[in-house]
Amino acid sequence: TKWVYDFSEGNKGQKDLLGGKGANLAEMTNLGLPVPPGFTITTDACRHYLEHGGTPEELAAQVTEHLTALEKAMGKTLGAAGDPLLVSVRSGAAASMPGMMETVLNVGLNDRSVQGLAAQSGSERFAWDSYRRLIQMFGKTVLGIDGELFDEAFDDVKREQGTESDLDLDAEHLQDVVARFDAIVREHTGADFPQDPREQMDMAINAVFDSWNSDRAIIYRRRERIPSDAGTAVNVCSMVFGNLGADSGTGVAFTRDPGSGAHGVYGDYLQNAQGEDVVAGIRNTVPLADLERIDRDAYDELMTTMARLESHYRDLCDIEFTIERNKLWMLQTRVGKRTAGAAFVIATQLVDEGLIDMDEAVRRVTGDQLAQLMFPRFVSGGEATKLTQGMNASPGAAVGRAVFSSEEAVAWAGRGEKVVLVRRETNPDDLSGMIAAEGVLTSRGGKTSHAAVVARGMGKTCVCGAEELQVNTKEKKFTAPDGTEVSEGDVISIDGSTGKVWLGEVPVEPSSVVRYFEGEIDPDSTDADGGADDLVRSVHRILTHADEVRRLDVRTNADTPEDSARARRFGARGIGLCRTEHMFLGDRRQLVEKLILADGDAERQAALDALEPLQKQDFLEIFEAMDGLPVTIRLLDPPLHEFLPDLTELSVRVALAEERGEPDEGNLRLLAAVRGMHESNPMLGLRGVRLGLVVPGLFAMQVRAIAEAACERKQAGGDPRPEIMIPLVGAVQELEAIREESGRVLAEVCEECGIDVRPLIGTMIEVPRAALTAGEIACSAEFFSFGTNDLTQMTWGFSRDDVEAAFFHQYLDKGIFGISPFESLDREGVGRLVQIAAEAGRSARPDLKLGICGEHGGDPDSVHFFHEVGLDYVSCSPFRVPVARLEAGRAAL
Ligand code: PEP
Ligand code: MG
Repeated sequence: TKWVYDFSEGNKGQKDLLGGKGANLAEMTNLGLPVPPGFTITTDACRHYLEHGGTPEELAAQVTEHLTALEKAMGKTLGAAGDPLLVSVRSGAAASMPGMMETVLNVGLNDRSVQGLAAQSGSERFAWDSYRRLIQMFGKTVLGIDGELFDEAFDDVKREQGTESDLDLDAEHLQDVVARFDAIVREHTGADFPQDPREQMDMAINAVFDSWNSDRAIIYRRRERIPSDAGTAVNVCSMVFGNLGADSGTGVAFTRDPGSGAHGVYGDYLQNAQGEDVVAGIRNTVPLADLERIDRDAYDELMTTMARLESHYRDLCDIEFTIERNKLWMLQTRVGKRTAGAAFVIATQLVDEGLIDMDEAVRRVTGDQLAQLMFPRFVSGGEATKLTQGMNASPGAAVGRAVFSSEEAVAWAGRGEKVVLVRRETNPDDLSGMIAAEGVLTSRGGKTSHAAVVARGMGKTCVCGAEELQVNTKEKKFTAPDGTEVSEGDVISIDGSTGKVWLGEVPVEPSSVVRYFEGEIDPDSTDADGGADDLVRSVHRILTHADEVRRLDVRTNADTPEDSARARRFGARGIGLCRTEHMFLGDRRQLVEKLILADGDAERQAALDALEPLQKQDFLEIFEAMDGLPVTIRLLDPPLHEFLPDLTELSVRVALAEERGEPDEGNLRLLAAVRGMHESNPMLGLRGVRLGLVVPGLFAMQVRAIAEAACERKQAGGDPRPEIMIPLVGAVQELEAIREESGRVLAEVCEECGIDVRPLIGTMIEVPRAALTAGEIACSAEFFSFGTNDLTQMTWGFSRDDVEAAFFHQYLDKGIFGISPFESLDREGVGRLVQIAAEAGRSARPDLKLGICGEHGGDPDSVHFFHEVGLDYVSCSPFRVPVARLEAGRAAL
């Protein structure tokens, strides 16, 4: 097996094998860009290491072979005393996991080669600074020593010299730091810092493999749904130095603004530093544009290189670079993370620049990104006072109580509080806190700091580099420039789009994208007033194209005229689920109570007769809002006792009344009825079609209301298109009985009105038995709509109302599934039933219409599944309609 690839041997298509970093280093090498030579150890080797607890047998020999070639190319030997070759050992998985795994720089330095490096570079200071960095990084990541020990020792030396800046330390001081670090290593490992360069390298490689399974890497993967067995590659790269003096430095750059998509120069630069200093946000950087002044030639070459990369990758790239004595070196590139808004803007920009077509533009954005753009934003005004302005690192509006550690963020959020995590800077250990928080605020670090990169990736609001704030995490407070102190628990608001920070709660307004969907912004107008901005225009173009290419129709779940109208504005082509139970609440509850308590047919009929005109009015308004489009009305589904008072409460009320000696006849009767209907498993009880069969006249009343409403709309010149849907069917016989009754009622109404209304009559498939007998059921159904909420509940045997809060977090932690099956469809289990039913249904009735109306209808991944199994439409809540339209388009490409 080939376990090691030279940078010149790979390409950007080999991410799975070489990791993202390795594949892109190879691509850049082959483009002729200035990449320091090196080689990549494959993810295969990592998987072998993790599975077998050791490296593959041939690996050592292959590494030797590539190292020898590298030494030859560089004219230096790894760690040689006179003029040492030094290398970096970096992780790099197929999926980007920023800062989650390890890196060791300056491998090859030891007590002797540090002298050689000093002589060759002409700088004692530089050599000792590099050596202390090696011991520090190696000690922490390879030897597992607490990093704070090194930080403290380093700070001690700085304090003794009366400075806070590394740059004030000279060679002698740094030599002292190295001696102290050596002592720490000896004390904690019982051995000296390893002096053999090759041993250093091999240990660093294994440490990178091991870091795949670090706690933070595991949490990150779970959240980002990255497979846990993919493994990381290891890149061994000859070192170039940004810490050789003022003519050196290191930086990070984007080919366009990852926040807005705008063209320009975006990035951070740090003079006389190594890469880790920038990403960690430890020292404050200067804007990349300043590099033009600092080093004109290197800046020009960087700009040319970035333009080259962007046209080659046909996308926004982010890069890491180092300048060593005025010479530019490219250390990394990849297609860069960006905010949701920038993703849309960049996709259409690239179309306009002729780099991609509209199909590709649709592929480049996601439904999740679109959903993020529909979140509200802050409006000015309100009671809040502005505290400061930091950098707008990741957009959105976050309001929450200030907390100052990751642990507190998790604890407060666990109690149901919204929190904003406030830190001086974040590091990968803050990940769980960032996940728990509404947003993140830091006082240090630029737009490429850890906090910014990770927050953008998660779509979490982030303001970083708010330097005016004095953050004191020990005392759990921060101080604003005007002296205001904000302590743990105080409410703050942060705006990730502008970088502003307020004390108190700032009111929010709807997003421009939502206003566009609402028809308040004209995508074709560029007027300052009511016109569209770049974002709205991009969303409009991309969704229009998605609509053109998609095969799946998108309907909505709505049961009010308002929701129906909104969903229609958002692009829904009809209603896939109108839940009639919502129409039985409020003042009508009394009528339902009468129906349930009815003594004899006459009383029951009276209750039904009272309900019918109200139902009819509901339908009339919905038909009007959805004129010309199908409206699937589901007959009553939930157990009737849901409309009655709570058993315990009522028992108490009755008991109290009796105690007072004034028993209430009505309540006593009610109590008897509630007791009589009490069920241990109501979700598996008297509900859905079972109600229709057991409560005489109930479904007939609803069908009559639908038919009369449709006739009335027709008479008024409308175009109502009702469809009647029977819930919870498990056997075709149930459906047949209701069909027969409904057919009779429909015929009666047609006769009475003299108008022909023939709604389709279909069923939900939400009981596993229905899926398994779908062929028979289809003989009696003109359409199926998959109720994947109940289907998931009954297939897994998970109570949909309880399990997510009760124990799903443990299931997620244990990796039993990566996401709740109620959120994203379980393809193998529930999906299999959907597929079986779709196929059997279609073979029994080729023109059977197939839809889905469970929550999964608005989940991106599930939409792709429904496309694949050939459904006709998905139906989802109004706000998910645009997401479903986009994902249906993406699924078709
Ligand atoms: C379903 O079960 O998926 C469904 C749409 O019906 P409800 O959520 O109302 O039970
Ligand atoms: Mg259901």
